[in-house]
Amino acid sequence: MATSFDHARRFFDQAADVLDLSQNMRTLLLTPQREIKVQVAVERDNGELSTLIGYRIQHDKSRGPMKGGLRFHPEVDEAEVLTLASLMTWKTAVVNLPYGGAKGGIAVDPRTLSVGELERITRKFVDEIHDMVGPDKDIPAPDMGTNAQVMAWFANQYEKFYGFQPACVTGKPVDLHGSEGREEATGRGVVTIAEALFKKLNRPLVGARVALQGFGNVGSFAAEYLMEKGARVVGLTDMTGGVWNPEGLDVRKLLEHAKSAGGVKGFPGTDPLSNEQLFGADVDLLIPAALGGVINAANATSIRAPYIVEAANNPTTPEADEILHKKGVIVVPDILANAGGVTVSYFEWVQNRQHFKWDLERVRTELNKVMHESFERVWKIAEEKKIPLRTAAYVLGIGRVGRATVLGGV
Ligand code: NAD
Repeated sequence: MATSFDHARRFFDQAADVLDLSQNMRTLLLTPQREIKVQVAVERDNGELSTLIGYRIQHDKSRGPMKGGLRFHPEVDEAEVLTLASLMTWKTAVVNLPYGGAKGGIAVDPRTLSVGELERITRKFVDEIHDMVGPDKDIPAPDMGTNAQVMAWFANQYEKFYGFQPACVTGKPVDLHGSEGREEATGRGVVTIAEALFKKLNRPLVGARVALQGFGNVGSFAAEYLMEKGARVVGLTDMTGGVWNPEGLDVRKLLEHAKSAGGVKGFPGTDPLSNEQLFGADVDLLIPAALGGVINAANATSIRAPYIVEAANNPTTPEADEILHKKGVIVVPDILANAGGVTVSYFEWVQNRQHFKWDLERVRTELNKVMHESFERVWKIAEEKKIPLRTAAYVLGIGRVGRATVLGGV
């Protein structure tokens, strides 16, 4: 069976063909630098012992220290972490940050853990990998199932070995060396990209109907900014179910409901919505902001949205991508669309290293600049080479990583 890394390789190869890369160069760029797999043994609250598996895959460091999220999710496995690590390499290059790519994860369902268990797992994982990560080596950040609190525990545990090192991890709480605007950054960046796309196509974002999967860190901020921009989020699903209102959901009220009810399901004044219905909905824009592989050969033909902005990592399989391309659906790929998070993570790292705090306005202004410049660059490559935006983004990212690799000397 094809793994998610086989999918990532197909996207890579489409761009490598455009760049006319040799087989040796392809192998060099795709092969990870280092794969770390550790045992994370912790005592549960009931006194039992749990033995979990933790991964950190360091994909490429030719452009700088490696950077990538840390995911706590039951479906985390080696192939997925490797896929996501390689996406980070191309992503940091697309937005031109001085970083390489990495990713980590622990195969665990954080919803089944107490706060104490979550903290012990995080600290134990740091104990196992601390000598292979750090501000100049590999800098983790939040991803699915992890948050600012997890990053705070990570930094605190790392500092037990190395002293004051706030730049060892990003996405920390603002009260503990985090950056203003980091939490909102991915969702905000997604909306900036959606706005840039609609502008290019001479379509108004005001009044546009949007369907969104996921209401966590990325999805909730994206929904809020879409509402601020005058778009109508008409459909939304999360782990608990989904909600539909053709007039547009009141995102702030939905947030309050989700906080108290544990999810979006049952929000008053809405009809229930399944993921299947969400992906087939008659909307102007579809934003997957949850899991990978959700747009696939089984549902791609039924997608009616003319535009997709990928907030999640790796949400579209290559088969689906081909179907969507043939249908004329424009897809802004993850490695551009959701790069706002790693961009503000970079700003946080810069602030930590300079011991100088930026205000929110500066963070937003700089983020806006990076997202717009990167979008323009990818759009131009797509136009000039007559290729889809995904291939264009890979051409930009792989081209930059390839040049750095050759310049540094193999
Ligand atoms: P999160 O854990 O905060 O939220 C995940 C959301 O997905 C939750 O609302 C959950 O209910 C929902 N979900 C899970 N399973 C679902 C299902 N079967 N159907 C519908 N919804 C479901 O995670 P996040 O940080 O918001 O990340 C979301 C995606 O964005 C991931 O793919 C992640 O890799 C990507 N991403 C995150 C960041 C970041 O800064 N957090 C940056 C770039 C990319």
